[in-house]
Amino acid sequence: MTSVTERIYYTDPTCLEFDATVVSSATADGRSVVVLDRTAFYPTSGGQPYDTGTLGGTAVTDVIDREDGTVGHVVEAPIEAGARVRGRIDWARRFDHMQQHTGQHILSAAFDRLHHARTVGFHLGAALSTLDLDKVLGADALSAAESEANRIVWEDRPVSIRFATPDEAAAMTFRKEPTRSGPLRVIEVEGFDMSACGGTHVERAGQVGAIALRSWEKFRGGMRLEFVCGTRALREFRVLRDAVAGSLRYLSVAPQELPSAIEGAQTENKDLRRTIRDLGERLAIHEAAAHVQRARPIGSARVVVDALEGWDQQGLKALASAAASQPGVVAALLSAGDPALVVIARASDVHLDAAAVLKALVQRFGGKGGGKPELAQGGGLTGARGDMTAALAQIIESLIQPVL
Ligand SMILES: [Zn+2]
Repeated sequence: MTSVTERIYYTDPTCLEFDATVVSSATADGRSVVVLDRTAFYPTSGGQPYDTGTLGGTAVTDVIDREDGTVGHVVEAPIEAGARVRGRIDWARRFDHMQQHTGQHILSAAFDRLHHARTVGFHLGAALSTLDLDKVLGADALSAAESEANRIVWEDRPVSIRFATPDEAAAMTFRKEPTRSGPLRVIEVEGFDMSACGGTHVERAGQVGAIALRSWEKFRGGMRLEFVCGTRALREFRVLRDAVAGSLRYLSVAPQELPSAIEGAQTENKDLRRTIRDLGERLAIHEAAAHVQRARPIGSARVVVDALEGWDQQGLKALASAAASQPGVVAALLSAGDPALVVIARASDVHLDAAAVLKALVQRFGGKGGGKPELAQGGGLTGARGDMTAALAQIIESLIQPVL
């Protein structure tokens, strides 16, 4: 049986290089997994991701906290059991995790102290971390807790690690009652937060740098907050700075005026669209008159069949409807583009089922569509426009009923 791995990071979270002996080496799911007698590699647990680095010169790509108390190191190249190896931790990644994790302790304590809001979830992601609260707070309350957390950071309070027996732990006041039995690893942000935690933390609160809430939303009866600390806060600031600066160049306003400027631009855009639509309708009515003049009589109706350049579905519909607003008119219009759009409209006094005309046309030229007896539209028709217009005239002629 393998004995538990000695975890160097428990007592020395800044240890970046260590020597160890490989106690077992195995292959699981095609991955080489190595267990050491001691390790400074942090395995994924408690919401904090694993460390990366090298072991005996080969890359460590995952670190697993195993049920038996050992730590499994997934390595790129297998290492034999019994070998002595030197481990090296990727400090940039680890320090980032330490900043986010310690920031979370301080932020959670600030929410607890100011608003009696308990932390019920934490996840340290690759770009963002989330913290779940058990109650809903307003923007001012969130800002107050954010400020309080940063005050603790800037006071640079010591962050200590100690181990407590169950008896000692019973006399301590934790932010959250520990659920584990046996001795506890206790992380204290001096005079502010006491938590039982197995993660890695900075040694002084000042190393967190800054804590910033990025966004929030209601979540499971409480809230889910996204937050960034330290280097991530700086990176996030730069992303926002560039996005805001880029937007300001287009709008010529101060940063705080950006939301109202965008709202104004959207309103203006909506008004312009309405104006364009109105003008389009007026143009359609105007053009429709010219088309109706060229209509040819079929039975008692005047029928316009045409293929037109430069009209979209809305335009064709407006044009056909405008033409068919005159008594006795049927307008069947195709777009010149490929595949073709089609709109068939008829005046209320004409006895013709526009949907039936469309159906017959689609049977011959493909595409799809539908509508009502007075107006039908479709698209996706393929073939020569001359053939389509000839077919349309023919179909209309065959389906039109004389006025009784
Ligand atoms: Zn922790």
